Amino acid sequence: MAEIGRSIVKMNVDELINLLNKALADEWLAYYQYWIGAKVVKGPMKDAVISELDLHATEELTHATLLVTRIVQLGGTPILTPQDWFKLTNCGYDAPVDHFVGEILDQNIKGEQCAIRTYSKLLDLTREGDPVTYDIILQILSDEVEHEEDLAALKEDLDLMLARRK
Ligand code: FE
Ligand code: FE
Ligand code: MG
Repeated sequence: MAEIGRSIVKMNVDELINLLNKALADEWLAYYQYWIGAKVVKGPMKDAVISELDLHATEELTHATLLVTRIVQLGGTPILTPQDWFKLTNCGYDAPVDHFVGEILDQNIKGEQCAIRTYSKLLDLTREGDPVTYDIILQILSDEVEHEEDLAALKEDLDLMLARRK
């Protein structure tokens, strides 16, 4: 364990580790929701949407890696079993049972909005107490803001196209 690295954290480390594990649960569920959504999605603009969903899936996995690296640095144990994803998640999981492109975009937009709120709270919590975690959370939050925007732009194009067809 990185003893000095851990000793400079001026907040409750166990509580911080728990919050990072909760975020880790969200990232795995977000990863799978994007990944499986890209496999089943149907409808107009499908190819553009699949590319974006696949890219976001990859980026959620990168977030999981960043979180685990920090949890281990802090002397914590990252989630070891998928059962804990559902126990710890903040944002839950929306199964893409309706394969229509507009519905899948809406579900993922909702997920990103929850991620933004969650990381924004974590950012406030770590600002004073742990600048190293703060920096990691800021990187992740910037990606989630971009994710929401990318999906909203696709949804806007889809809605415009469908409105024109009427
Ligand atoms: Fe993420
Ligand atoms: Fe995201
Ligand atoms: Mg994107």
